[in-house]
This record gives sequence, structure tokens and C-alpha cells, in this order.
Amino acid sequence: MRVTDTADAVVVGGGTVGGWCAYFLRRSGLNRVVLVEKRTLGQGASSRAAGIVRTQGGTPWAVRLGEWSRRFYLSQRDEIGIDSGFTPQGYVLPCFTAAEVAAAHERMAMQTGLGLPVRWLEPGQLDALNPTLAPGLTRGGTYSADDGYLHPPRNVLAYAVALATAGVQVRERVACVGLLTRGDAVTGVRTSAGDIGAPLVVLTGGPELADVGGLAGIRVPSGGVRHQVAVTEPHPSLAAERVPMVFDLAAGLYWRPEEGGLLFGMSNPDEPPGEATSVDEPYLARMRRRLAELVPVTAGLGLRRTWAATIDYTPDHLPIIGPAITDAGVLGGVVIASAGGAGMMWGPGVARAAADVALGGTSAVVDVADLGLDRFDAAGTSRLRTDPIALPFPGTITQL
Ligand SMILES: Cc1cc2nc3c(=O)[nH]c(=O)nc-3n(C[C@H](O)[C@H](O)[C@H](O)COP(=O)(O)OP(=O)(O)OC[C@H]3O[C@@H](n4cnc5c(N)ncnc54)[C@H](O)[C@@H]3O)c2cc1C
Repeated sequence: MRVTDTADAVVVGGGTVGGWCAYFLRRSGLNRVVLVEKRTLGQGASSRAAGIVRTQGGTPWAVRLGEWSRRFYLSQRDEIGIDSGFTPQGYVLPCFTAAEVAAAHERMAMQTGLGLPVRWLEPGQLDALNPTLAPGLTRGGTYSADDGYLHPPRNVLAYAVALATAGVQVRERVACVGLLTRGDAVTGVRTSAGDIGAPLVVLTGGPELADVGGLAGIRVPSGGVRHQVAVTEPHPSLAAERVPMVFDLAAGLYWRPEEGGLLFGMSNPDEPPGEATSVDEPYLARMRRRLAELVPVTAGLGLRRTWAATIDYTPDHLPIIGPAITDAGVLGGVVIASAGGAGMMWGPGVARAAADVALGGTSAVVDVADLGLDRFDAAGTSRLRTDPIALPFPGTITQL
């Protein structure tokens, strides 16, 4: 069916960033908000994530987006009547070298300065807090009891309900195929089901965001790369109350409790960018060995589930929130939004900030002045320091 209609705002992409953004735009008072999703809601990265929500960010932007999103998850039931399943499990970032200890203390000073309840655990305290960890391995670590995890499919359900009850028009299986422009401003979105006139457009797309931008001549330095997750079979020692979440930063390996076992996720630093189509079994086996060193009870446990999916990333591991830029300059009315591979921990914050920027240019969630596309040069290199607390994503983008 071809439609020609109008909206106050169109959001492209029905992942967690686009979904919550469309909801926030509607809640901000726009009457007619349309979301176009080329597949179905959540069928990108958002339903396949591990669900880790970490406020212990490596930059003030990360801390603010994480904290805003965590508070939003806690408020959802009152606001919407459903939630994303957020569980405040507590998160440890252990250190294994003197350099990591120094960096952790520096980071913790920044985080506590922003009000996060992060504290330092001496090695013995860390071992006592996490009885599943092989004792004596760490030099201590940082801990926040506020950090936790959500259930990604339930988060998709939550924003689907929010969109429906708020009256956002969701058009699934409708692809954005370009933008309509007049002069240096957007006038609408061209879709596979006809044109939608609109003065405001938010472009999301997760791992496919560079392609979405490319439809309108906007170069977005973001990419996609394989990320793997596995869930062990249950074991009595892995009861949830015995397992704070852990991020072994140097190994790019993290875990949390899941159904009586452990869910662990991993990124291979040598993985080339591109779409994930299968599990890398040798790498999974390597990370299982690392996990068994750290959590001996997992050695020999069967795996209940494994999956690989394409995760979004940006070259500096920071989000993108800002106006669209083409070779002709800023394209008025269009905002680009990417959570840079941290859409569970930052997604609602990025979505709220993108909605704010679309409506008024700034946001109280986070200072977006440096987070726009203008921080990248033509090769996609950022002038910002890379967020040090991130998965080992590729440092470059191949799509540009
Ligand atoms: C295996 C895995 C584990 C992860 N674990 C975590 C975690 O523990 N914590 C965390 O914070 N993050 C995690 N992430 C990252 C997180 O899932 C993403 O950052 C987040 O889902 C991105 O949300 P998004 O809305 O930007 O993108 P997506 O969820 O990918 O949504 C983008 C949508 O845009 C649609 N689209 C694309 N092109 C078009 C078009 N032309 N027209 C219309 N629609 C279009 C797609 O179909 C898709 O549905 C993980 C990711 C993966 C893959």
C-alpha cells in the first residue's frame, strides 16, 4: 500500500534508540509521530543484546547517559505500566595489573564526582563479594551496586507497549529509502510505502546507521561487527545472589547471572568489521577457557544457548547525537542518533537526548555539544578521546 501523508516527526528504525525516541517525541507534545521500521520492532541489535546496564562509564558522557537510562528503567512501571526487566545486580570491574588499578582510581574519582555510588574493593573484599571468582587473582576493582541488567526482548516489548499507548504510529516492514529536502532543510521521508512529509526526522539504524545516513548523503562513521553471547547450563553455585556482574575489560569478556547459569558475552579485538552470520567457535572456546580460569565452576558446564549478532560501534566508542551533515553543510530538521554499541546501558538516554535536540537543539540529559558528526574528520577519525571502558571494537570504519 502506498501512502502519502504528513507527520510532526518521523523516526527511522525501531530498535531501542528509535523506539524510545519516538515515544519521547510524542510525550513531549508532538501530535503525529511516525516510526518506520524496515523489519519488525527490535529485529536489529536490540533484541539480541546481553542486557548489561553499566553506569560505571569511562567518560562523563557515558556516566550521565548510563545514569539517566538506569533511572528511566526504574521509573518505567509507574510511567508506562510495563518495564524492561531491569535488575540491580551490582557490577565489578576487576583489575589485574598496577596500571589498571591506577586507571580505575582515576576513573572512580570522575564517577563519584558525578554522584555515582562507585567504591573500591580491595582484593579480599572483591573475593568475598564474589564467591564464584577464583580467589587471589585480582588486585581489587571498582564496584557499583546500582549497575545491573535488563532483558532485551522485554525492553522491546516495553517500548512497543509505550509506543502503542502513547499513540505513535508504528509502520513495520516499511523502509526509509531517502529524505525529501528543500534547500538546506528536510521536508519529509521517502519510504518503501510512499512519502511522509515532516519537518523533523531522527535517523537511527544501529549497525546499519551508516547505510541509513548514506540514503541521504550523510556520512555517519559507525559500523557493525560480530559480538557473541553464550549461556551456561544452571549450577547451584551460580545462584543469582552469589554472582555480581563482572567485566574483564582487557579480555573483552563480561558475565551476569541468567536462569541459574551464567550469560557471558565477548568481542574479539581482531574481528574485522562486517555483519555477523555465525558463531566463531574457536574464539568462543578461548573465552570459555578464560571464564573457567576466573570462575572455575563454569569449567565443563554445558551451554544452553549461544548466538552471534552484529553490534553497532563508533570509532571512539562514544554515542552520536547531533544534526545531520551533508557535503553541503547541516541539513536542518534531521538528527542522527547512535548508542555506539551501548544501547542497553545508554539507549533511553541517547533517545531522550536525540528527541531534545530535534525539538530544541540541546538536552538536559547530557551535553551534546561534542557528540555530533562534526567531531569526525573525512576518514571517520574522532577528535575525542576514546571511551576507555568499552568492548574491544574495531578502531576504524570500513563503510566510509
Ligand atoms: C550480541 C549483542 C550483545 C549486546 N549486549 C549489550 C549489552 O549488554 N549492553 C549494551 O548496552 N548494549 C549491548 N549491545 C548493543 C545494543 O544492543 C545496541 O547498541 C542497541 O541495540 C542499538 O540500538 P539501535 O536502536 O540503535 O539499533 P537496532 O536495534 O539495530 O535498531 C535499528 C533498526 O533500524 C532498522 N533499519 C535499518 N535500516 C532501516 C531503513 N532503511 N528503514 C527503516 N528501518 C531501518 C533495523 O531493521 C533495526 O530494527 C549488544 C549488541 C549485540 C549484537
